This record gives sequence, structure tokens and C-alpha cells, in this order.
Amino acid sequence: MGANSAYTIYSEPMYIDGQWKDSGSGKTRQIINPATEEVIAVVSEGDAEDAKQAIEAARRAFYEDGWQDSSARERAVLLTRIADKLEERLEEIAVVETLNNGKTLREARHDVLDAADQFRYYAGLATKPHGQIYDVPDHMQAMVIAEPVGVVSQIVPWNYPLVMATQKMAPALAAGCTVVIKPAEQTPLSVIKLFEIIGEAGFPPGVVNLVLGAGQTVGEELASNPSVDKVSFTGGSKTGKLIMKAAADSIKKIGLELGGKSPNIVFADADFETALDYALYAIFANQGQVCSAGSRLLLDEALYDRFVPALVKKAQDIRVGSGKEPETVMGPLITEEHLQRVLEYIEIGKQEGATLLCGGNRINRRGYFLEPTIFTDTTPDMRIVKEEIFGPVLVIQTFKTEEEAVKLANDTPYGLAGAVFTSDAARAMRVIRKLRAGITWINTYHATYNEAPWGGYKQSGIGRELGTYGFSEYLEVKQVNINLDVKPSGWINGN
Ligand code: NAD
Repeated sequence: MGANSAYTIYSEPMYIDGQWKDSGSGKTRQIINPATEEVIAVVSEGDAEDAKQAIEAARRAFYEDGWQDSSARERAVLLTRIADKLEERLEEIAVVETLNNGKTLREARHDVLDAADQFRYYAGLATKPHGQIYDVPDHMQAMVIAEPVGVVSQIVPWNYPLVMATQKMAPALAAGCTVVIKPAEQTPLSVIKLFEIIGEAGFPPGVVNLVLGAGQTVGEELASNPSVDKVSFTGGSKTGKLIMKAAADSIKKIGLELGGKSPNIVFADADFETALDYALYAIFANQGQVCSAGSRLLLDEALYDRFVPALVKKAQDIRVGSGKEPETVMGPLITEEHLQRVLEYIEIGKQEGATLLCGGNRINRRGYFLEPTIFTDTTPDMRIVKEEIFGPVLVIQTFKTEEEAVKLANDTPYGLAGAVFTSDAARAMRVIRKLRAGITWINTYHATYNEAPWGGYKQSGIGRELGTYGFSEYLEVKQVNINLDVKPSGWINGN
């Protein structure tokens, strides 16, 4: 384990039952820097057998070795240690994240601090009061206590490799669960760094486990294995449906954080510069590879002629390049395969008759770079309007009335996020209340906090992450009824 430098090729094993381990099969996978197309690491490629070992270790740690009875204070100390170490190693881990994912260093640094904050937040929450007491009849004392769900498997995507992992791991560990996590096969490096920290933090063996590998092998095992009490998944809605099916046989608890096609609604009375700035940020941050991206701009017709030329001009000015370069605003897409998928959508948009206002081309240099792309003259039935592209491709839709804006906004099977820009406070709140989405904004976009719940309506998911809601996802609730008048009930053959 361990790189000599973040820039050299190195080999990384998995972390199972408190030990660094190569995959049973000995197979490995090359990890690519999307900005250069170079191999930057070689990691173990686990399979279902490795996943089973990790699940058994997590099960033993929870049910036999005492983690189930660990104290909240003990867990809080461990989580705080992780937060401290993440902050200490901020620059090193941020560089690894940029090299592996392509995102800008500025964003990667933010992600590492966000991850540290998640561990700190849940360290605090672990020791706070939980449970309830009820006033009931019959000389009884009724109460509710919360207990950890047990063995939790967690499967995460490549767009926020570290933060997607930590926002699942921190609440699960704080709640007293044991964890088996699988990063996306393309982006394991920052999570491996996290496990270097976890390995030294003092967790008992088996409490936190890392299995690397593909979705169809490791992921499938984590979702279907009957020894797992809950599977928590972040990724595409199609994969989410497979996870639900795989979990169904053992009626496993599930948490799903899935895709989106989120509307960003701009009314004519919005603060022009603010709405313009956020329309760009909503779609082009992280190259549009954000589940909550504002990928549909719903624009008041009255604003169209002024807003669109300014939007296009600013999109064309975006600096695309390596995430390591400080002036870069947009990095590369994650893989050649994903870039091709996004280019295919751009072709589909043209064939469907939408007008390409800017972008649409791969940039002629090494790496998976794509121009910021904007389509207009769209109709709601077009695939580029209905389907999640997960890249820097914005589609513009127009509306005349508030009612029409709301109708267009909700005309999607997704329900992750949505925003409204207006200077009419009453209208802003009216529209937000009508949006069928779990994460919403007024006169801003993308601002979210670890204190508040994250998750989607409709096909964008089940359950919530972050905040107190995210904590309760890892807790079972047990009612306890205590007889305060200990004598026979007399119900059966009684007097
Ligand atoms: P994906 O669904 O292809 O993969 C996500 C993870 O699932 C990876 O670790 C992958 O290996 C694994 N996986 C794939 N097939 C599997 C299977 N059959 N069984 C078990 N696991 C399997 O998604 P992606 O391309 O990595 O990520 C992009 C998607 O993630 C987008 O749709 C995006 O909207 C979504 N996303 C959602 C959120 C959210 O919070 N709602 C956050 C980030 C990303």
C-alpha cells in the first residue's frame, strides 16, 4: 500500500477484516487519469468471493465481537480522529481526487473538507439524545429505543468519489453499524487514502471494510447477500432498480440516491446577473457530472432574448483543462466511454431538431474533454430533455406562465432537485411548494449542507442521506413496554 508520490504508479490492495489484502483471484485493474489518459495506479480487482469475506468479517464484528455494544462516545472519538486526519492530509487527498476523477483541485479540496465535516457532524450526533417515552394506560411505561441496523453494504459512484462514500460511512459508523463499502471501479483512490486513515484510527477488525471491483460482481454480491442487513446505493436509476431487485429476496433495507434531470426555473423578474451566474454553475460544475445538476433551464419567454446570448457567451468563455491548473473551470469527463455516451446524446439532440447554440465537440487534446454545450428549441418529448445525460449539456425550455413553468418542471420521472430565480418571494415559495423534488433552492443553486437531508422524490431515490434524517436511516426503532404493576394479566383463564 501507499504511493511514493501521488504522481507515480502504485499498487493498492483492499481492506478486509482489519488487514490490507489483495483480491483472492490476484486480478488487478488500471486506474486512469481522465485529463491525460495515463495509468496512475493499479488496484486489486475484487470479486464476489472477496465481498463475501468482507461481509462475514462485518457480520462477526457486529454480532459476535462487540461492535453492536460499542458506546456512542467510543464511536464519536474514532470518527473525530478520521475528521482530523482528513484535514491534515487535505492537499495530498485532494490531489489524488483530481488525478483520478478529473475535477478541479479547488473542488477536490472542498470535497475533502466536506468529508471531514461529515465525520465531525456524525461524531457529534452519535452522543446526542435518541429515543422517546410515551404516556400509555394500563400501568405501563412505553418507550422507543434506536439500535444500529447491523451490517451495511454501501455502493457509490465516481462523480464525488470521496464524499459519496463518506456521507454513507460516517452516519452508519456513528449509528453503530459495521460497513462494507465499494467505490466505483473507475475512482477508488481517494477512498483507499481514507482507509489508510481508518486503518490507523483504532477500529476493531471487521468494522469497516473496503472491497474494490465491478458492479456486476462485487456490487451484486453486496446487494443480494442475505447476511447484509441494509444496502445503501448511490448511482444511476437503472442500477438502482437492479439493486432493489437483488435486495428483495432477503427483504433487505435499502437506501437509494439516484439520477435526476433537474429544472432551474428563471422568471423575468429575477436578478439577471445572479440567475445567469447560477444557470452556468448549475450545469457546468463538475462537468455536469452531478446528480442534482440544473440540466434543464426553464426560462421565462420574456427574458429569452436578453438571457440566452449572455449565457452562451459566458459558456464559451469557460476554461476547460486539467483540474490541476488553477485557472481551469471545467475538467475532463470521467472516461472515454462516458464521453462517447455524452457525444451520442449531442447527436441525438441534433437529430431530434433541437438547435445547438454552442459546444457539442470533443476538445482536440489528450484527455476526455468536451466543450460546454447548450441546446435550445427543445420540446418536452425529446430524449435530451427527458433523459439524464450526466455531462456539460444544458437544454433550454421556455414558459409563459407560472403554471406552465411548474408543469414543465415536474414533467419528468425524476425528482431530485430544482431551483427558482425570482424577486417575488411569494411566487418563489409557491413554485417550490409545487416542485416534486427533494432538494430545492431559491435564488441559488447547488448549495447544500451536511446538516440538511439529501435525497429524491419519484425515481430519484428512496430515503435520505445527511443530517438527522441520514442518521436515522442506519437505525432500527424498537418499542419497549415495561410493566409497572407486576402481576398476572388474567387474560387467559383468568379471574
Ligand atoms: P452506476 O449506477 O453505473 O454505478 C454506481 C455504482 O454502482 C458503481 O460503484 C458501480 O460499480 C455499481 N454498480 C453498477 N452495476 C451494479 C449492479 N448491477 N449491482 C450492484 N452495483 C452495481 O452510476 P455511475 O455512472 O457510477 O454514476 C452516475 C449516476 O449516479 C448518475 O445517474 C447520477 O445521477 C447518480 N448519482 C446520484 C447521486 C444522488 O445523491 N442522488 C449522487 C451522485 C450520483
